[in-house]
Amino acid sequence: MSVAARFVRSVGALLLLAAALGAQGRVAGDDTAVDTTPTPGAIPFERWKAPEPQTGELLCGTCETSGREYFERDPQWEGHLDERTTESGPTWRVLHDSELYTSDNYGLDWTACDRRKAPSIHDLAEAHYAGEVARRQAWLDERRRVDAAVRAKQPLVHIESTHFVLAWGIPKVKTSAKKTYRMHAAAMLYLERFEQLYAEFQTLFELEDRMNQTSKHFVYLFERQSEFSDAAPRYTGLTGSTTVQRMSGVEQDSSLASWWDKGMYSSDDDYRRHLSYSLIKHFTSDLYDLRWFEPGELGLVPPWLNDKYGWLDTGLCHWFELRLPGNVISYSMREQDTTSRWKGNDWRKNILKAAKSGDVPTFAEVITLPTQSLTAKENQFVWSWIDFLLARDTPAMGKALAMTKQEYATRDILKECWGLSVLGFEQAWTDWVLVAYAPTKR
Ligand SMILES: [Zn+2]
Ligand SMILES: [Zn+2]
Repeated sequence: MSVAARFVRSVGALLLLAAALGAQGRVAGDDTAVDTTPTPGAIPFERWKAPEPQTGELLCGTCETSGREYFERDPQWEGHLDERTTESGPTWRVLHDSELYTSDNYGLDWTACDRRKAPSIHDLAEAHYAGEVARRQAWLDERRRVDAAVRAKQPLVHIESTHFVLAWGIPKVKTSAKKTYRMHAAAMLYLERFEQLYAEFQTLFELEDRMNQTSKHFVYLFERQSEFSDAAPRYTGLTGSTTVQRMSGVEQDSSLASWWDKGMYSSDDDYRRHLSYSLIKHFTSDLYDLRWFEPGELGLVPPWLNDKYGWLDTGLCHWFELRLPGNVISYSMREQDTTSRWKGNDWRKNILKAAKSGDVPTFAEVITLPTQSLTAKENQFVWSWIDFLLARDTPAMGKALAMTKQEYATRDILKECWGLSVLGFEQAWTDWVLVAYAPTKR
């Protein structure tokens, strides 16, 4: 079977599987089948429906025989909620939030009714309440271990969403739009950006969670270097000066630890771009669907692209980074000499000029280099090569990434996904650049 056919087959199987799981998910509760206790951040939700009281039980006017008494949240908390950017998006939702859990009543807007007129229903409500409180407290206790590990001066904000577990120690963020976000709102702002990036990555390349090893990325972000230095070895197994990343593996989490070095990332835009650049590596590494392989066949080990497909790895990271507002300042700090630069901040201009004068690195050579070996100049070219390929066929990148995990040669990937040969690549790319990067007339 061809790679393309195998890939397509996997997607089909995934959709079927997802449909089956979706149908199943609605009835499978934790302890009881009827508990639809809202998960914080999920909107909208259906209010819990109590079962019918047993024969002989009385109706309860206080709780309308639901066992639950709802109340308005503390207005202060409501105000705080308004600070949030959004609670969820179409592809994700907030699952846990330390600030919500440490607010009144663990952030729940109901308690078990204490008038025991219909004991079967009130027992159920009490059990649900105790279970929900225990669940929230257990998550909080686990996350507070990070606070202890980094000797945080004030409690960190912890938020878990569908694809990220964020530990946040940055007291406030001011955006380029001059809007200031206090600690929890700032954490939500970044979490939402991460989820948007994740969704964009999947949508553009037609990828699914089911193709990943974990689909969960642990992110630890701090204000101070000392906190980072405490967290990095513990949660990534690595040490470094600004940002360290460990990719997901058989028995390890995908995790990134960083501190906001204002000397390096002076603005919110800059730090966001740096983190976006960095997270794309986690997404491409995590992509590893066992169904792409024949039984017993081993895929790309380790599963990251930087060793064998450095140009793809780096080009993709830059491509997502450059879609965001702000200046180009972010090279991969781990791999790149941060002082080395090639020309100005406008990469399109640089590339166009170089393409016109034929000052272009040899494609056939650069595609053999690992990420670490790429020069500042080559960084800009691999970005443009990816820009060209995605303009030619964006979803083909999903297939290309699957092929890297099956260790196909770059020439086979180019041919299968974009109908290009290694020899023909440079000319096709040059022709495209001369048009696509030409200054637009106003
Ligand atoms: Zn009642
Ligand atoms: Zn909050």
